[in-house]
Amino acid sequence: MNDYDIAIIGLGPAGATLARLLDSRLRVIALDKKRDNGDEGFQKPCGGLLATDAQRGFIRFNLNLPTDVLANPQIFSVKTYDLNTRLIRNYQRTYVNINRHPFDLWLKTLIPPAVDVRHDTLCRRIGRLDDGRYRVTFSQNGREEVITARYLIGADGANSMIRRNLYPDHHIRQYLAVQQWFPDRHPVPFYSCIFDAALTDCYAWSISKDGYFIIGGAFPLKSATANFEQMKAKLGGFGFRFGEAVKSEKCIVLCPSRFCDFRCGQDNVFLIGEAAGFISASSLEGISYAFDSSEILSRLLNHADDGSNLNRRYWAATRRLRLKLYGKILKAAVLTSPLLRKWIMRSKISHIAVE
Ligand SMILES: Cc1cc2nc3c(=O)[nH]c(=O)nc-3n(C[C@H](O)[C@H](O)[C@H](O)COP(=O)(O)OP(=O)(O)OC[C@H]3O[C@@H](n4cnc5c(N)ncnc54)[C@H](O)[C@@H]3O)c2cc1C
Repeated sequence: MNDYDIAIIGLGPAGATLARLLDSRLRVIALDKKRDNGDEGFQKPCGGLLATDAQRGFIRFNLNLPTDVLANPQIFSVKTYDLNTRLIRNYQRTYVNINRHPFDLWLKTLIPPAVDVRHDTLCRRIGRLDDGRYRVTFSQNGREEVITARYLIGADGANSMIRRNLYPDHHIRQYLAVQQWFPDRHPVPFYSCIFDAALTDCYAWSISKDGYFIIGGAFPLKSATANFEQMKAKLGGFGFRFGEAVKSEKCIVLCPSRFCDFRCGQDNVFLIGEAAGFISASSLEGISYAFDSSEILSRLLNHADDGSNLNRRYWAATRRLRLKLYGKILKAAVLTSPLLRKWIMRSKISHIAVE
């Protein structure tokens, strides 16, 4: 009774998309820490911007975005601040501004009823049986349960326990993402992208959403909180207004730095989305890669008649995606180089002046 073809761990954009696309003849169980509705329980900290690559995913999936996941207002430019040179530039962007938690919950509602979805559930342990199947132990409502599955999918995000189990010695560069929410007191809501080489070799951001001003950044793990506070203090001198925070959130965010950072799985375990390291090193945009990798894997699993070489085929099928992400690593090297950034910003290439 508790044996499945596929067990998916995590229902963020990657896991929820895979669960939606799998063939109904497959017996699938999907475990997720989040609840199925409301604001209680686990929520993924996120900027909630859908980049054009993610929008292209919606076209392929023939899906429209319901307005109740949209945030107000929609903004068409990103103000880029270099705190070291004090240069400020305005670049056009076509992001869709969404509220991430309602977006995640909506993606979960699209999963067909044939999938056994367990909300508010924590995957605790995985193990392998003699016949090659996987044993998954999870807790739900304070009770432990065990199931077995032929294929195991790690869709459990940046801090993936599935990836850590599979590759205990493999470390992808990571930062602590820190975000705080404030009532927005700026005259005109805006997005920003902030560079300060003294505080982080990654970057920081701000976003306006539904009357809130969200400021966040990806910082080295050891000094994240102190650097975040220093950044806020510096931004006061650039007209940023904070006041009393209504929400603070933190989580690990991956930032791949080598081609070998991307890991797709082995021995009938598959990694998708950020668990595989599929996130842009230049923008920390990861929703589109979560869509892309789950779509690629769904095609293979739906036609896995004998199951042979599935891991190798998934590795081969994600080659273009991995090369694209490697391009983002190269782009990040340019953007986070103070000298090159200064040169690009000074040149005013693509800058749109505000009247
Ligand atoms: C602060 C911040 C801002 C970001 N802003 C953007 C942005 O604006 N646009 C963008 O495209 N990307 C953004 N990203 C990146 C993006 O959020 C991720 O790359 C994307 O969510 C990856 O999707 P995923 O499905 O692979 O993983 P996740 O979205 O992390 O989903 C994994 C899910 O697995 C579940 N889970 C984890 N462990 C377990 C377990 N043990 N048992 C059961 N369930 C488990 C959790 O419920 C979690 O929701 C941001 C990231 C951060 C940290």
